[in-house]
Amino acid sequence: MSTKYLWDKKNIVAAVVLGLGISSSAMADTKIPVVASFSILGDLVSQVGGEHVTVKDLVGINGDVHTYSPAPMDAVAVKDARLVVINGLGLEGWLPRLMESAHFKGVEVVASNGINKLTLAKEQCDHHHHPVTEEKCDCDHHNHHHHHGVYDPHAWNSVTNVKTYVKNIEAGLVKVDPANASDYQHNAQVYLQKLDKLQLDIQQQFANIPASQRVIITSHDAFQYFSRDYDVTFLAPQGTSTDAEASAADVANIINQVRDDHVRAVFIENITDNRMVEQISQETGAKIGGKLYSDALSGPNEPASSYIKLMEHNTATISNALK
Ligand SMILES: [Zn+2]
Repeated sequence: MSTKYLWDKKNIVAAVVLGLGISSSAMADTKIPVVASFSILGDLVSQVGGEHVTVKDLVGINGDVHTYSPAPMDAVAVKDARLVVINGLGLEGWLPRLMESAHFKGVEVVASNGINKLTLAKEQCDHHHHPVTEEKCDCDHHNHHHHHGVYDPHAWNSVTNVKTYVKNIEAGLVKVDPANASDYQHNAQVYLQKLDKLQLDIQQQFANIPASQRVIITSHDAFQYFSRDYDVTFLAPQGTSTDAEASAADVANIINQVRDDHVRAVFIENITDNRMVEQISQETGAKIGGKLYSDALSGPNEPASSYIKLMEHNTATISNALK
């Protein structure tokens, strides 16, 4: 084997590593590769990890995490990650198989650990055939079996919950990279203060809207934590997942509620098929109040390119429509 061959081989290895955007832990001064299951978590990891991490989101901007099918490159990213951050609460039904096939050996953080969880209503289970579990909901009359939890997974739509997410992510980063612990702690403190300010801003925007007027329609049921924190009622023809369509009866039911309760606005979402909401708007005269970013960030040229921007945009869009 010639010296030249060895030199070439080394460069090929280096090129492959760089080409995949994955830093090798053997190289000095490299960043910690982190995988986040979807874009909102990816932003939180970036806020806490700062310059020390590279973050790969499995489900990207404007993507639907409920119905995602992992790509082969996702297994490569998981395999090489030192930290994987997931939401939990049954959101990422496709993830356990991916983790297994990737032979992941790093640290896994379930960002929602320790939050005050919302349980899915039994009636919603029966009605929408969604949150399937063996113990609490017997929804097996559906022809395929989904593995959703008994809890509503959309916990990030509460700033209080996201403060817990941030603390869990901070702990995960400190565990995989203790040398930079003080930076992670500092970044988390700075970001938690921004979240406190965000929380006050949201409360202020709803303060002058009578509770009886705070009723809106979205296509899928992603805002029950927002509802709990900010006292806005959300109605949705589709359940807490997007993997089954609303029935004609679901839609008719919502149309009646819109008429009876004088619902002021219906909203489209960035991740869903919006024809149903448009139909409800046409049949009831309720205006379309705008687009809400429910389960994913937007691209950089749209209004929800970070978690804080997403919450600011959704709050402004909802409160403007209710005034
Ligand atoms: Zn959702």
